[in-house]
Amino acid sequence: MQQLGYQSQLQPFSYTAGFFTEMSGQNVVATLMPSHPVKAHVILTAHYDHLGKQGDSLYAGANDNASGVSALLFLAAQFAETILPFQISFVATDAEENGLHGAKFFVSQLPPDDSVTILNINLDMLAVSRADKTLYAFTSYAQRHALQSQLSAITSDTIKIKVTSSSNTMNRLNQGSNIDWRRASDHYAFAKAGFAYIYFGMGYDPHHHQRSDLLSNIDQNLYIEAVNYITQFIQQLDMTKLTEAAQ
Ligand SMILES: [Zn+2]
Repeated sequence: MQQLGYQSQLQPFSYTAGFFTEMSGQNVVATLMPSHPVKAHVILTAHYDHLGKQGDSLYAGANDNASGVSALLFLAAQFAETILPFQISFVATDAEENGLHGAKFFVSQLPPDDSVTILNINLDMLAVSRADKTLYAFTSYAQRHALQSQLSAITSDTIKIKVTSSSNTMNRLNQGSNIDWRRASDHYAFAKAGFAYIYFGMGYDPHHHQRSDLLSNIDQNLYIEAVNYITQFIQQLDMTKLTEAAQ
């Protein structure tokens, strides 16, 4: 991030795990300071923690969430030289798996400024091998139409995009999974604080939190398509049309 010219820092924090155990983590925060005052701040997040080693088992976490972190790094490289009509930050969060702690801490440290509209774009599990080749954009009920119209301007030969604000809908399309997609990842820390958010992911993954979450189970072409799609979306993002706070 530093090499790309971003103002970057480690953001250490501590949190309580279980009842009494004090744990620590650190986010990586990189920001491109705009050359002129802007009214909007787009904050991309991807958690870089995973289950890691448990006993003799290694949980590599290729989809959850090396896929999101790789996309974050790619996007940071793409936008390092671009003048965007908003401030952009890239945050690799820690301690997502045991309670979204890194994202919660990051949100708690945002300067209170009502004149700046914040949008979180969260990337988590972007590389599920799916026959239906669908990328989900999960957002708030209030924002879904505005988001839909911006996403429909982007074309892809291979990937289908599904905008939804309903966990029920997303579960129905995902082998009947039973996931609260609003709370499932770091975007919830932003949602809870009243900020707009978009969660990009490919939905239910049978390898989630299994040792089989490996590169060999990833459809790499589909993943690249998904990341290209998100890149285009950010390039064309019109924040003035996405200003409704999400709840
Ligand atoms: Zn995850």
